[in-house]
Amino acid sequence: TRVNNPNTEILEDKAACWDGAEESALFGSGMGAVSSTCLSFLRPGDTLVFGDPVYGGTEFFFRHMLPMFGIKTKHFPAGATKAEMEALVKDDPTVKVIYLESPANPTIMISDIGAARELADQFSTPDRKILVMVDNTFMGPIFSNPLHLGADLVIYSATKFFGGHSDLVAGFAMGSKALIAQVKVFRTILGSI
Ligand SMILES: *Cc1c(COP(=O)(O)O)cnc(C)c1O
Repeated sequence: TRVNNPNTEILEDKAACWDGAEESALFGSGMGAVSSTCLSFLRPGDTLVFGDPVYGGTEFFFRHMLPMFGIKTKHFPAGATKAEMEALVKDDPTVKVIYLESPANPTIMISDIGAARELADQFSTPDRKILVMVDNTFMGPIFSNPLHLGADLVIYSATKFFGGHSDLVAGFAMGSKALIAQVKVFRTILGSI
């Protein structure tokens, strides 16, 4: 069903083990995971800061769709230093999400997830907690666990190396029980399961 089914739940539980996540949410595609997860936490007036480049679909969503809903985006070059990232985050009380693809598609640049965590903690306020989201599609859960490096949420296109056999289209979001519960409300209503 659109809410859940046993097969979905078994796969979510198994996939969460790879990443050491409390909980995961399975999606019908990587873009379903990217868009639904972002929309779960961003509101009009918020800003998403991302490491450039990101996957083309994600880029289109950030540059052309989020602004339609009053959500701004700005970016630093993937692989930027902490100081370069900080310049976009400090003095901007609208920053809500720091979004990294590491390695980035297609340049395979590596971004400093730990530095993004430190900036998120430093510039969060009691009523605006900055979230670190990492698309780990290109490294996969065997070789990198962004949650252990400080990410709040890790996103996958399972269509690619996660699935590994060119025989499926799917996506995941993984994180704490509380964050994934919020993501699953959006998944249910947007229908991106
Ligand atoms: C392909 C890709 C996506 C989108 O995944 P789909 O399953 O094709 O929707 C998202 N992020 C990255 C890094 C990708 O390479």
